[in-house]
Amino acid sequence: MKTTTEIILINGEECIHCPVCERIVPLFDVCECNWENTGETNIDGGPNKMTLAEAKEAYAKGLKIK
Ligand SMILES: [Zn+2]
Repeated sequence: MKTTTEIILINGEECIHCPVCERIVPLFDVCECNWENTGETNIDGGPNKMTLAEAKEAYAKGLKIK
């Protein structure tokens, strides 16, 4: 399941708010929290091993996101 995300332009680079930790990260990049962003918010995790809900929970607990 995918939803579109709001794109923010920073110095001509397309960025999004990481759906897990809310950091601003380039559209197609692995965030500092380890969540892989694909330009869409993959609620089922997309290329990530965890779902978005699992990743958010892990992040809140200070655990590693996979
Ligand atoms: Zn993040």
